[in-house]
Amino acid sequence: MPMSSGFRQRLEPLLPALAQHFGTPFHIYDEVGIRETGALLKQAFAGVPGFREYYAVKALPNPAILRIMQELGFGYDCSSVAELQLSRQAGGRGEDIMFTSNNTTPDEFEAALADGGCILNLDDISLIDKVPRMPELVCFRYNPGPARSGNVIIGTPEEAKYGVAHEQLASAFRKAKQRGARRFGLHTMLASNERNADYMVQTVQMLLDLIAQLGQQLSIRFEFINIGGGLGIPYRPEDGAFDVMKLGQATATLLGEFKQRHGWQPKVYMESGRYVTGPHGVLVTQVINHKAIYRNYVGVDACMSALMRPGMYGAYHHIDVLGKTPGASDPVVDVVGSLCENNDKFAVQRALPATQDGDLLLIQDTGAHGHAMGFNYNGRLRPQELLLREGGQVELIRRAETLQDHFATLAFQPDVYRPA
Ligand SMILES: *Cc1c(COP(=O)(O)O)cnc(C)c1O
Repeated sequence: MPMSSGFRQRLEPLLPALAQHFGTPFHIYDEVGIRETGALLKQAFAGVPGFREYYAVKALPNPAILRIMQELGFGYDCSSVAELQLSRQAGGRGEDIMFTSNNTTPDEFEAALADGGCILNLDDISLIDKVPRMPELVCFRYNPGPARSGNVIIGTPEEAKYGVAHEQLASAFRKAKQRGARRFGLHTMLASNERNADYMVQTVQMLLDLIAQLGQQLSIRFEFINIGGGLGIPYRPEDGAFDVMKLGQATATLLGEFKQRHGWQPKVYMESGRYVTGPHGVLVTQVINHKAIYRNYVGVDACMSALMRPGMYGAYHHIDVLGKTPGASDPVVDVVGSLCENNDKFAVQRALPATQDGDLLLIQDTGAHGHAMGFNYNGRLRPQELLLREGGQVELIRRAETLQDHFATLAFQPDVYRPA
């Protein structure tokens, strides 16, 4: 079930006029769907005191979307200076923002601590001495190594560059305490696009076990655990949905048990990106060419600059042809962009209804890690972003890139270093 029937019904009648008005290609996001998923998340965790979602800004870093997150009461998970700026512009302050960087630079620390600060989530024990001023509240990202398995996007924990190793964790908190930290959290982010709720429940259990043990060892009462993002969405029609109610209820149960045993309980934070916005975005692109050689190609006016996931991970994105119903005798085609890279394909050997030049394709589930991951290789420009509002009007929320944008960094003061 890639695109919800609600989104489809809201969007499809508008599409020919939108293509006329704005031109193609564009990503379009569904405010109703985003708010529904936000509400579902809150409902699922209603039994968990202090639960908060910190939306992973990198998934869809657009101010109009971040304002919706603000209205939902969500915080922001950032890992760069740009994402910090966007979050603060959207109204995020102090502990509304979690800064989960890795291989962190001095500039990033300064930006994270400026403007009211944020919750600093440190990626390594060596960074403790590099934090210019240790904030009162600090968190570490935990990497369990061989104790847990991951997946293709994020890699197995043992091979992942992120986080503090198991045997370093106690020293990390001790050191942070020595530098003045007084309040503590524990974070992890292990899987990506994981549709099995049990995996996330195991993560909750793992973090609770750890804070119980570390808490005793270091005389710390942890304020929160952050179970990371990585909740999956059904990209393929046959994929099952992530059971967020199950995760919320199991989390509430585990916390209840924890409280019984220890007399206190941490708050629970999460930082999903994909789950919140992924299904509520579509890349709309127009068919511009047909080519029949050894395979049949459908050429469209978008390319990898708008959506990297198929080329980068071989990821499946469901495609519909506007106004055409799939049938048993549909031709098998590759849907391609114009970039000079043979992985610039939105679909490989996919059965699609026969298309003509001018047809509109809906490439689905582009509401997370879609536009944001686009790149400019080959001088290809990123497309515009639109937002389908609850009231039915459609707003431009980012214009398309122009060649002037692309060449902006070629205008600079001459600067030459001549060796003596
Ligand atoms: C990318 C990322 C997320 C969000 O991942 P999703 O798969 O979109 O939920 C959350 N936390 C961190 C640290 C990340 O790097």
